[in-house]
Amino acid sequence: MHPLVVDEARKQYEDTLAVDNVSFEAQPGRILGLLGPNGAGKSSTIRMLAYITTPDAGRITFGGEEVGPGTQARMGYLPEERGLYPKLKVGEQLILFGELKGLSRREAKDQAAAWLDRFDARSWVNKATNELSKGMQQKIQFIATILHRPELLILDEPFGGLDPINADLLQSVIMELKESGCTIVFASHRMEQVEQLCDDICLVSKGQIILQGTLNEVKKRYGRHTLEVDYEGKDAFIDRVAASGGARVSQRSKRHVQFQLAHHTNPRVILTDLLRDVDELIRFELMELPMREIFVRAVTEAQGAEAAVTQAGGMA
Ligand code: ADP
Repeated sequence: MHPLVVDEARKQYEDTLAVDNVSFEAQPGRILGLLGPNGAGKSSTIRMLAYITTPDAGRITFGGEEVGPGTQARMGYLPEERGLYPKLKVGEQLILFGELKGLSRREAKDQAAAWLDRFDARSWVNKATNELSKGMQQKIQFIATILHRPELLILDEPFGGLDPINADLLQSVIMELKESGCTIVFASHRMEQVEQLCDDICLVSKGQIILQGTLNEVKKRYGRHTLEVDYEGKDAFIDRVAASGGARVSQRSKRHVQFQLAHHTNPRVILTDLLRDVDELIRFELMELPMREIFVRAVTEAQGAEAAVTQAGGMA
């Protein structure tokens, strides 16, 4: 099992520098989340990893070998836009994908049957793809991506269009592939899934990496300033805490509030205050920042810094 190494990769489209000297490593048996706002350069990066395009500069290697025709059979790529043949039957389609990745017809057929069973989709084997719902097509395309047991798996928004039950199923299969030593790169907007699945993250904005490391390291760097409170009773304490300047309310619903504490705030002060109102305190927990909040802060800071540099340049 091998690492994927991206070394100073760069991709330019006419006047857009979509990927600006990006470097990272994805390790076997780990899942790397590639995150960033729309237009950050995630798909441009993913397309280079999958050898759909090639970098203008820099190198991308898998197990020391430059990503290219020689690495194709060892990798599986799930693109964001689905690419199944609409008229071909599901079974034939999967066998074809397996054969394209070097499996014999027999192996491809056995693997297709086993995975269709696992995804509770055996009865679809003779259906044409265009008769399937979006979520069903999604499952078939995922099977097509992993049928040949790739060592490197690249997934672009793999959960789009799936209901929660199928999303859980997909998530458990991805975890199994990781446990078996597969190197996995995963691009997503869904921060809850990133938090549940990823070991490492790489956050990009405007073609550059702005935050990178293991999920744990990144979360530690941002500290424990999120306070989750579940309660029964009156909620006047929320406005009092917000008005005191000790915390910002980042989520509020019936019987639940999430605060982002200012650095100087002692959570005990909030506890004492809220006990004046609530009948029952169900949860009072100081947490690390949710990934969603880290994402927003890191992107806002990076874009703010860039605006400052541009302004300084304009004033010079
Ligand atoms: P993301 O996947 O993070 O949303 P993309 O990689 O799709 O970002 O796009 C990064 C930038 O490159 C954007 O400014 C986008 O408009 C531009 N871009 C992407 N693909 C092309 C292309 N084929 N031709 C020209 N510009 C492109």
